[in-house]
Amino acid sequence: MKSKSASTWSAAKSEELYGFKRWGAGHIGVDDGGFVNVQPLADGRCIRIMDVASEAIAMGLKAPMVIRFQDLLRHRVTQINEAFRKAIKEEKYAGDYRGVFPIKVNQLREVVDEIVAAGKQFNYGIEAGSKPELMLALAMHEGANALIICNGYKDLDYIRLAMLGRKIGKKIIIVVEQLAEVDDIITIAEETGVKPLIGFRAKLQTRGEGKWSSSTGDNAKFGLNTAEILFACEKLKAAKLTQALKLVHFHIGSQVPNILTIKNAVVEAARFYCQLDKMGFPMGYLDVGGGLGIDYDGSRTNFESSMNYSMEEYARDVVANIRDICVESGVKVPDIVSESGRAVVAPHSMLVVEVFERINKKETLGHQHQPKVKHKVVTDLETMLKNKSKLGRLERFHDALQKKEEAFSLFNLGYLDLENRAAAESLYWQICEQIAKEGRDSGYIPEELHGLNKLLADQYVCNFSVFQSLLDHWALKQLFPVTPLHRLKEKPTVNAILADITCDSDGKISSFIDLEDTKDYLTLHELNGKPYYLGVFLTGAYQDIMGDLHNLFGRVNEVHVFLEPDEPNGYYIEEALSGSRIADVIEGVQYQSEELCRRIKTQIDAATRKDIVKPREGVRLLEFYESQMLAKTYLNIDRGNGKKKKAAKKD
Ligand SMILES: *Cc1c(COP(=O)(O)O)cnc(C)c1O
Repeated sequence: MKSKSASTWSAAKSEELYGFKRWGAGHIGVDDGGFVNVQPLADGRCIRIMDVASEAIAMGLKAPMVIRFQDLLRHRVTQINEAFRKAIKEEKYAGDYRGVFPIKVNQLREVVDEIVAAGKQFNYGIEAGSKPELMLALAMHEGANALIICNGYKDLDYIRLAMLGRKIGKKIIIVVEQLAEVDDIITIAEETGVKPLIGFRAKLQTRGEGKWSSSTGDNAKFGLNTAEILFACEKLKAAKLTQALKLVHFHIGSQVPNILTIKNAVVEAARFYCQLDKMGFPMGYLDVGGGLGIDYDGSRTNFESSMNYSMEEYARDVVANIRDICVESGVKVPDIVSESGRAVVAPHSMLVVEVFERINKKETLGHQHQPKVKHKVVTDLETMLKNKSKLGRLERFHDALQKKEEAFSLFNLGYLDLENRAAAESLYWQICEQIAKEGRDSGYIPEELHGLNKLLADQYVCNFSVFQSLLDHWALKQLFPVTPLHRLKEKPTVNAILADITCDSDGKISSFIDLEDTKDYLTLHELNGKPYYLGVFLTGAYQDIMGDLHNLFGRVNEVHVFLEPDEPNGYYIEEALSGSRIADVIEGVQYQSEELCRRIKTQIDAATRKDIVKPREGVRLLEFYESQMLAKTYLNIDRGNGKKKKAAKKD
């Protein structure tokens, strides 16, 4: 069904409404057909996201699904390395850039493979923060000049693993986080006869801002304070390991929104570097950690979901500030290491979810349930709805609220039947809608009515779990851009928040990006009985690995896409990974599918013996139970999905 306003709407208007140009960094746009597309290399070659989703669905991989744009990942690795190269050239910096990818941000095999391959020509290395991560880094790392940086708490075996890397010729630097680690490194150096390369993580006074700011300051859990750095120096001297100290490291937290914080931290760390150099340590590297942001809301501000600087500005500021301090101190400039994770991987992947239900308070109401005898509270509300011009918006809102309360009291006391209660609720919401609409038309909204739009927003129920796929939205209220993936030539008319399918009232997305602050709802298209898909963007950092199994919803389907000009749609799916099956997730919580099937069989047999079920039915029931073990954990929604629907059986 086309509404009148459809003709006045356009794909360009959708592009503006959802802000693709602002947060998409040149990679996301809308085409003339009203579909969202991705330009992995920002060079004009586009991939329609719905083409990829439809192809995956045809392969049996329904939403929820993650789509990885491998070329985009490669593009980001190149971008950060080029940004530093350019800055080094422009600032006439005498050192090199030796970036490392902090593997904790996304350890998935295909992601790391792509990054290592793309980074090879830049001597781009890997950062590990734990023993398992170091195991990956040691095996995946290539090239004698690319670094491996070892952060995090360490036991003796962690240090032995690092020494193993040293022994086979890798440039692997152990960053001391705790004073006691110095003694351990000295012990293992003696044990293995290998000369280690060592770095110190400095506890800076410069504090980050934003959600991840507690990584520095006096109470940070990582790094050495000034006195500890001096003790560590003495220990190294005593062990004749002066030559081993090569690096100063800091990390002020992730997603630093303000460039001034970064500049201040770089200056402070460069001072540490120069002082250590002057104390006779051979030094060579300054590691500025992570923190380079992503502009999730596209506002280009120092708001926590944004950043007030670009990657190029970041690189220039790091390079110039280190140079200035070194020149001033008369110390040779170091090679610069950075550990940007979020900025490198966040843009490369997205989540596709299907909306399958609308929870609606206002419509349908008043129509079906006309009370046989209308109670006065209902006729009062009807009068309010009709005589809208008589009173101001705020006064009508108060009156309607009072009547609604009255209706609930009457119901609790037994004076109002279900029909009248339904009518009262319906009329109340209609009045609220009327007031909110007048507010939208007139522009001015009294303070008390600000929440009205939020209150009136519908819920669009989507087949996914926030806890599996967008953990940081739940845990940290991190914002991600969310938009429809198609129908963008149609005007969206429904204000909605998104609910997931977990049995948890926290399982929802109810706060969205906006140019100023945040928005309480998203304006979406009316559901029309056909599949409706939304994309959640910039999800490539942290979300892949932090998700959990709340309600036993497991990993989602996944496709990896490459640009390919010879293919009809300009891309091909290189890899398709099927998400968790029910058998997989229950085994993660210590059950075995065979044993569960055996238990069900015993119970079905017992029921058969008691003649509660017929033997043939029992066999069918068991087969069905067993077959569900291999089903996916998410809802198996069938809204036509392109195919003709079989005539549904009436029940
Ligand atoms: C997490 C972490 C990073 C990555 O930070 P981003 O903000 O994602 O770039 C870098 N270094 C260390 C030590 C970290 O703990």
